Amino acid sequence: MASQFLSLRDEILLRLWYYLLPDLSAHVAIAQTCRRLRRVYADDNLWRTACFSAGYGRPLVRRAALRQSSAGTAHSIYGTSRDKPSWKSIAHMLVAHPSTCEIRSCTQANVCFAEHYQFLVAAGRSMPFPSDTDAADFIVLHPLYFYLHFTQTSSQATPTATRGIVGYLPTPSPSPSPSPPQTPPPPPAHVPDPLSILLTHLPTYPESRSAQYGPLCTHPNASCAFATFPPVERLAYGNVGTTVLTVENPEGCTILDVNRALAELIGQDDAHFGVALAHYQELAMASGVSLAELADEISRERGFLGDHEYPYIHALLAQA
Ligand SMILES: [Zn+2]
Repeated sequence: MASQFLSLRDEILLRLWYYLLPDLSAHVAIAQTCRRLRRVYADDNLWRTACFSAGYGRPLVRRAALRQSSAGTAHSIYGTSRDKPSWKSIAHMLVAHPSTCEIRSCTQANVCFAEHYQFLVAAGRSMPFPSDTDAADFIVLHPLYFYLHFTQTSSQATPTATRGIVGYLPTPSPSPSPSPPQTPPPPPAHVPDPLSILLTHLPTYPESRSAQYGPLCTHPNASCAFATFPPVERLAYGNVGTTVLTVENPEGCTILDVNRALAELIGQDDAHFGVALAHYQELAMASGVSLAELADEISRERGFLGDHEYPYIHALLAQA
């Protein structure tokens, strides 16, 4: 049977491959079956389409030179990177992660949202990244966008928690920005909460429910999910007429791309410093290690892209 299967031409195999979309686990398993199938899967575009149909993109790798905001009011933080992982390795990470992650919901982080993408692929639109104004009419943000960036209940919001976000940040719109919105701005509860964002960048431990995905970059299943449906290559945030932040990824903005861009807007102030330091101290105490040992340990865990830097980590070392 196996020999009959392998005698099929590559074109037939690829047609069968199409029916496996978007089952990433199946692709990973089949590609490891034999040399022939490994060769078929050598084309990274196959992995790219498989990831896409499962609702996953490839976050931009953070590079020091790109973390400098450009002059002016717009903050263009990320660009393309030569260091980005292959789509094949992204697929492998997505499949392997649930067996190591302690957060149960992480495994299912993208299940409901991924259904959107299966529809697109079935319709023959494999990689649409609309940049036209029509997209603004039906763009949908991933539920994780709200879960990670907003206070869970409005009663938890404090004056300091909202300090630091530059201006008012309405729901992003694809670029080029459509004409100024005719609808009134959403209520303040829709403003991303800096404290929630900060917690997604700090290390976490199993008991901490408030920092479930912290740091987010250690969870490819959450990080790689497209931030919107359909995926867009640019998201713009700002007040009417002004842009305070843009998130750009030519392969489609992911949850991690948006998360990191929003984090750039968190003020480096005493309030957030205090939250971060208290978090580090609590983690060190719970782990039974010194601050120096903790700093050494967590600074070696830089996320699946190998580029994460922990907020205020230098201050932690100074106190250790
Ligand atoms: Zn996870």
